[in-house]
Amino acid sequence: MIELSNFRSFFVANWKLNGNFQFIRQYLEILNREIFNKKCVVLCPPSIYLNIVKDLSKDSLIGAQDCSFYNEGAYTGEISANMLSDIGVNFCIVGHSERRKYFRESNDIINEKASKLIENNIVPIICIGETLDEKKNNRTEEILKVQVAASIPKSANNNNSIIAYEPVWAIGTGITPTLKEIEDSHKFIRNLDKKFLNFKMLYGGSVNIKNSKQILNLANVNGALIGGASLKIDEFIEIINNSS
Ligand code: PEP
Repeated sequence: MIELSNFRSFFVANWKLNGNFQFIRQYLEILNREIFNKKCVVLCPPSIYLNIVKDLSKDSLIGAQDCSFYNEGAYTGEISANMLSDIGVNFCIVGHSERRKYFRESNDIINEKASKLIENNIVPIICIGETLDEKKNNRTEEILKVQVAASIPKSANNNNSIIAYEPVWAIGTGITPTLKEIEDSHKFIRNLDKKFLNFKMLYGGSVNIKNSKQILNLANVNGALIGGASLKIDEFIEIINNSS
C-alpha cells in the first residue's frame, strides 16, 4: 500500500466516462514533464485504460473509479479489488455521488467495497456529501454523520483510507460552498471520531484554477478530488503547482 504520510497533499483526477488512447498519450506527455515534490497525483481513468495510464505515466499513481464488492465468480461486468491490485492500482474512488445516484449504491455497499480495497492494499477514497435539498433543510451535518458511520469500514484508518467531502450540488455545477462551509464540514467530519483526526481529507466539487488555491489552503483540507478541471491537462497542472 502507498504510504500516505509521505505526501503533503493529494490531487485526484476523476476522468469519469471520458478519455481515449489519443487523449491519454497527449495528457501524459505533458504531465510527465512536471515534477511534483511531495504532492501525490492520482489519475483515475475508466478501468479499461488503467493499464495504459500506468504504463505511460512517470510519477503519477493510478486509481480506479469503482470496484466490485465481490471477490470473484459469476458477476458479469464486475472488476474486483484483487484484480485492481493485480495490475498495480494504488487508489480507488468509492461512493461517488454519481454511483450513489445512478447505480443506487448504498452506504452498506460502499462500506463493503472500501473494506475489500483495504484488504487488497488499495487506498479507498470514500466519498460523502449532502444533496442541495439536504443542505437547504440544514441537514448537512446529520447526513455526513450517517454517511461516515455507515460507509467507512471498521478497518479504515489514516494510513489506509482517504475521505473525500463532495457536496453533491457542487459536483460539475461550477458552484462551490463558501470557504467557511468547506472548512466547517471538514472539521465536523474530522471531529466525529478520534480516529479521523489524522485522516487525509479531500474536497471535491467544481475545483478549478480560480478557487483551488484558497480551498487547498484551508487547515483541514489535504487535497482535492477534481472532475471537469482534471480533463484539461494545463488546468490540472496549474491547480497542482498553485497549491503550497
Ligand atoms: C467529481 O467528479 O468528483 C467532481 C468533483 O467533479 P467536478 O470537479 O467536475 O465538480
